[in-house]
Amino acid sequence: MISFDNRFVDQLPGDAEQRNFCRQVFGSCYSLVKPTPVLQPSVIAFSSDVAGLLGIELDWMQSQQAASVLGGNELLPGMKPFAACYGGHQFGNWAGQLGDGRAINLGEAIASSGQRWAMQLKGSGRTPYSRSGDGLAVLRSSVREFLCSEAMHHLGVPTTRALSLVLTGEQVTRDMFYDGRPRKEPGAIVCRVAPSFTRFGNFEIFAHRHENETLQMLVDFTIANDFPHLDPNDPDVLQKWFAEVCVRTAEMVVHWMRVGFVHGVMNTDNMSILGQTIDYGPYGWLEGYDPDWTPNTTDSAHHRYAFGQQPQVAHWNLLQLANALWPIIEQEAPLQEGLDRYLDAFKSAYQSMMANKLGLRKWDDASDAGLTQQLDSVLQLVETDMSIFYRRLARISLDQVSPEGIDGLVTDDWLLRHFEDAYYDLSKVNREVLSQTQDWMKSYLMRLSQDHRSDVERSAQMDAVNPLYVLRNYIAQQSIDLAEQGDFSEIVRVLQVLKNPYQFQQGMDAYAIKRPEWARHKAGCSMLSCSS
Ligand code: AMP
Ligand code: MG
Repeated sequence: MISFDNRFVDQLPGDAEQRNFCRQVFGSCYSLVKPTPVLQPSVIAFSSDVAGLLGIELDWMQSQQAASVLGGNELLPGMKPFAACYGGHQFGNWAGQLGDGRAINLGEAIASSGQRWAMQLKGSGRTPYSRSGDGLAVLRSSVREFLCSEAMHHLGVPTTRALSLVLTGEQVTRDMFYDGRPRKEPGAIVCRVAPSFTRFGNFEIFAHRHENETLQMLVDFTIANDFPHLDPNDPDVLQKWFAEVCVRTAEMVVHWMRVGFVHGVMNTDNMSILGQTIDYGPYGWLEGYDPDWTPNTTDSAHHRYAFGQQPQVAHWNLLQLANALWPIIEQEAPLQEGLDRYLDAFKSAYQSMMANKLGLRKWDDASDAGLTQQLDSVLQLVETDMSIFYRRLARISLDQVSPEGIDGLVTDDWLLRHFEDAYYDLSKVNREVLSQTQDWMKSYLMRLSQDHRSDVERSAQMDAVNPLYVLRNYIAQQSIDLAEQGDFSEIVRVLQVLKNPYQFQQGMDAYAIKRPEWARHKAGCSMLSCSS
């Protein structure tokens, strides 16, 4: 069986109060707290990949003990469950103490490779950090977290993982639309897995409370355990660590921009110190390309966390982390340097990402900055599905066309036929749209012709970064609708398809098409609230 370590508990200061009630917890990185037992836990889906990482036998995943442990009814020997104390900036404002209000860390599983994986139950009852919440999660939000974390991993995006999805056998009351009409929904628990769940907010809370000693301990702990390649005795270690957090965060956001992912709640308590996507709540996937789109109803007035805002928001969040580190660094230059590294890392990763998406051999600023800007406008002329557009772009054949022949290739008819699947309303693709799209397409094809590459080579490069299958909002919702009726087969099927998001899969066309019209305004398919 798995052996467990509990470094966070064993090496960091914890809360002396052992009783579980809501309170402000000072000078502590965590509070010991056990999951609340549930009526009838059953594992309705699991990731065999994640089980493999942890060294868990697949037979065990189907056992009664697995349901019991992953539902929070039983602890395995060696587990020391706790809830972490953290704060955070929510929607731009300091929100004070937040903490694991409905997440309970079970322990770090030690895989045979030596890699440690923290296991965390989300939705397993109240903790000292639950504030006014019930500490629970419903099936719909748990399906979304389970599927999306695994989908993101297979897309190559840094993310926390999900081992299991458990139905608790209990009902949870939620006012899904904040309209005063709460309903009962099935309760569920996801077991999340990551090397560490430490967030920017874990550091912020101590800086805001002037608990500098605890802050220093958490920083030292994080560097030693989560960044073991850094030398703790290097006089510049803090600076190097902060710079690395900045670079990792930049790379994560570039991946989001590549696949069309909108996190939805980029508060600093939802930013992982490892640069992994964490806390899947009201996230969404761009269908029609729109940088101003946010899936989060709570953000509908300001669009602070809209798709196109994510790079700037990540920078702002890093600035909050820099402020939190100030008491132990007390120098502006190293922190500023980290923030500048973010900008540089973002720029270069973004450029090479766009070059890959477009099938260019290498980014050339002189031509490609303008080309991508122009594309950004063209994609917004009419509602154009982002994922389908890039896959269709990779299907253009230039082998038979000389540069002089490009004008002849890019006719109205050809454009409409080639991109038909990506347009949500063909009747809106009018003269003006066609003409601007043609202008862009000609520049793009001329640019490609300078690279002198075969169609095969170019399309392989593009298909490796432009996913064919993403967790479209309505696809997640369809698997939720069925799961709420007791049919979990669609969750399993979606998980299977999303394991190979870049490769065509026979018979799976339904997962690669644009959102059907019925889903445009359906609850869960376009907008989501935080109330999950
Ligand atoms: P989130 O918006 O999910 O990142 O959560 C923000 C804060 O609210 C975190 O401290 C969560 O632990 C807490 N929280 C969210 N939902 C609940 C809930 N149902 N019960 C208790 N705490 C919650
Ligand atoms: Mg959160």
